[in-house]
Amino acid sequence: MDASSPDLPDVTPMMAQYLDIKSRSGDAMLFYRMGDFYELFFDDAIKAAAALDIALTRRGKHLGQDIPMCGVPYHSYEAYLARLIRKGFKVAICEQTEDPAEARKRGGKSVVRRAIARVVTPGTLTEEALLDSARANHLGALALLRGGADAALAWMDISTGDLQVRATSAAAFRLHAAALAFSELVVSDDEPPTDEWRSALAEASRDCALARHPSAHFDSRSGERRLREVFAAAALDAFGDFSREDLSALGALLSYVSLTQVGRLPALKPPRKSGEGAAMLIDAATRASLEILQSQSGGREGSLFAAVDRTATGPGARLLAQRLSSPLTDPRAINERLAAVAWFAAEAALCERLGECLRATPDMARALSRLTLGRGGPRDLAAIRDGLCAARDMARDLNEAARAGGAPPEVAGSLHALDAQGGGGFSDLIGELKAALAPDLPLLARDGGFIARDFDPGLDAVRLLRDESRRVIAGLETQYRQETDLRTLKVRHNNVLGYYVETPPSGADRLQSGEHARVFIHRQTIATAVRFTTTELADLDARIARARDESLARELELFARLSETVAKRASDIADAADAIAAIDVAASLASLAREDAYVRPVVDESFTFVVERGRHPVVEQALRREGRGPFIANDCRLGDDASGRIWLVTGPNMAGKSTFLRQNALIAILAQAGSFVPAASAHIGVADRIFSRVGASDDLARGRSTFMVEMVETAAILNQASPRALVVLDEIGRGTSTFDGLSIAWAAVEHLHQENRSRALFATHYHELTALSRTLPRLENVSMRAREWKGDVVFLHEVAKGPADRSYGVAVARLAGLPASAIARAQALLTELEARKSGAPTIDELPLFAALEPVPKTPPPAPDPALEALFELNPDRLTPREALDAIYRLKSLLSSREAAP
Ligand code: ATP
Repeated sequence: MDASSPDLPDVTPMMAQYLDIKSRSGDAMLFYRMGDFYELFFDDAIKAAAALDIALTRRGKHLGQDIPMCGVPYHSYEAYLARLIRKGFKVAICEQTEDPAEARKRGGKSVVRRAIARVVTPGTLTEEALLDSARANHLGALALLRGGADAALAWMDISTGDLQVRATSAAAFRLHAAALAFSELVVSDDEPPTDEWRSALAEASRDCALARHPSAHFDSRSGERRLREVFAAAALDAFGDFSREDLSALGALLSYVSLTQVGRLPALKPPRKSGEGAAMLIDAATRASLEILQSQSGGREGSLFAAVDRTATGPGARLLAQRLSSPLTDPRAINERLAAVAWFAAEAALCERLGECLRATPDMARALSRLTLGRGGPRDLAAIRDGLCAARDMARDLNEAARAGGAPPEVAGSLHALDAQGGGGFSDLIGELKAALAPDLPLLARDGGFIARDFDPGLDAVRLLRDESRRVIAGLETQYRQETDLRTLKVRHNNVLGYYVETPPSGADRLQSGEHARVFIHRQTIATAVRFTTTELADLDARIARARDESLARELELFARLSETVAKRASDIADAADAIAAIDVAASLASLAREDAYVRPVVDESFTFVVERGRHPVVEQALRREGRGPFIANDCRLGDDASGRIWLVTGPNMAGKSTFLRQNALIAILAQAGSFVPAASAHIGVADRIFSRVGASDDLARGRSTFMVEMVETAAILNQASPRALVVLDEIGRGTSTFDGLSIAWAAVEHLHQENRSRALFATHYHELTALSRTLPRLENVSMRAREWKGDVVFLHEVAKGPADRSYGVAVARLAGLPASAIARAQALLTELEARKSGAPTIDELPLFAALEPVPKTPPPAPDPALEALFELNPDRLTPREALDAIYRLKSLLSSREAAP
């Protein structure tokens, strides 16, 4: 229903106000505060009622038609808000900005003033109840300049104030978006400049909300200005060398946050330029296949993260998830993390003590963001107080251990931040917060009662007055009982009448006759009681109400002052919160290493990949939990020189091929994330990229069949994997006919071996491929051992040298419970087929050697000097004079090209 035309005569003043505010809320639903409810009208109401499954009613008429309406109670709106946000809506929260009494003073028809207090969007949430404590909430902004040729991606976590930017391309953007798992991405409302960008954004929009922001907000110069203002810096050079597209993306991001927060910004850390090659690249398909943060069924259970997460705090869990999601590639940085884990692993008693302390540590980062955004409450102040106290305790314990045994750099850095050694410590702030806050705290400051006694003399005086009046009221009950000789008389309170005297109907006559009638003024008669007031009671009531208002006003003043004090130390507090998270991660990984026998991997620049007695972190735990026997550890050696080695893994179904492949990819991820690994020993030459593909999973949402998905993913590997990559390919070529599949798998192995030269594990059920070891020197056959015993197959889960002796398919089918008649028939067919060899090509029939001859390549076209010169130009860096010169130069290059024969 169209909700325009507020000037028409049948529009009530309130509706006119609603329509005015609604016109400024963009594409967000409007939660319009009316007393104890947030009301929604028109289309918003229809959509929200359907999304929330609540009643749709109507209120009055607009342009002659009923106005659809629905509402959510203000006291419990967060749950409704969460559902709407999860369903992809944005919500603008419109609050009353004055007391209704004020509006009444302006005249009977005056409408209470209202304004949008914030716009809630998936990427700008701060409420504990709406956030996952173990996941960062990333908001991104993508700037596309020069037709998408210069692109930058900026992102932040509003609840920690971490702000980063990096250059990107459409292909790289896909990888970054997969790593950062945005909840919301801000893009310009212009059309994407190229098909490539259009499809990259369409793909991103499947996993996160796209917020279309006016293109004017992507202006790089205003971006720079905004950054300089926010960080009070005359120039941004101190933070890094930012390109025009970086500034455009950062500027757009900040303007979007400021828009949704109605002018406020959280405490931000200075922008960091995220470097190329700093993190291992893992695309979305590999993440899904390796189940890094979530399992294929979508939950956390069964993921690598769930298996190794022993953190005690939300920020610790978020940091661990971030590290697993973006493992490093710089051995020095990785070894710093490993050194911290090793240090904690040797300090079991310290870890125990820290664990206790960490478990009681609140999420300071998120409390801080709420306070700085003006959305905090007394419990957030308490979280800062308790978090800083915990930080101080941890610093004491760590200092003691560090004095005895020296601490590695990562621990020393955390130690420095824990008690703000650079910023004069936190003792004053802790002291003030301890003195200020009462033992029991309400969620919202406006509920009052959170400032402790003896903190503020003014507040204490008002409270005394209020308590005194309450005592007098309590005394009045006894006095009235004695005077009226009514034992059933009571003094009570409710929100409508305030304090009143109540008697059962039988006592009412006495109060309404004689002397008493002058004292007791009748207010209300209900079935079970009659209620009166007295001048004295009304006086005291008014005094208490006044004292309550005064004390609340004073408490709100103090709350603002305390929030201000906290905000002034925001940067130190954020650093301390980060340090707690880093300690939590290192100490928890150390506990994991101790309890589950993980070892410190050797990580260096080599191309080695040697894992001895490696285990799958998730399957190992599942077997233990379900009592299904021990996990069989296996070695993996993908070369210890500069040549990528391929292991071709064969073996029956269910023998453990997939488990073996993935466990090695996961070990590389764990090692480069800075964790110990489930193995007896491991030597990992850093991988810059991991690819993992498992055949047969379709993506119907994207309109791709099983086989198409597999081929697109295989193409990505063969086109992109370098000798630094680690490739895991599981059963490719299965989704098509045997010959097609075999040929594709064959060609893929050859390509990996000859062209990519990556370290790779390749599992296949095509036995024919094992012959490749004769011609490909760096290919080795290994197989999962199995035995047939009394007609049944027994899996040994051991990786042995050499190809599998046979495939055991029929035996596995029997194990799975196929009817005996079908099994007998399958066995008969197999025997016949094997005898005739008609189903599979023999090795000599396959064009084994043909493939190894180099395929003639079309020579690349000679570069065009004019185009090259044009490509070299950077219009943003040219003066008008240089631009003119460049045009002359290009013209002359073109004419000399035309003159050439
Ligand atoms: P398919 O070819 O049918 O996909 P697969 O050979 O890839 O089978 P997996 O899925 O890896 O086999 O393993 C099957 C099951 O075997 C696992 O779920 C696990 O319970 C068990 N398993 C695998 N590896 C081991 C191991 N090393 N130790 C103990 N049990 C294992």
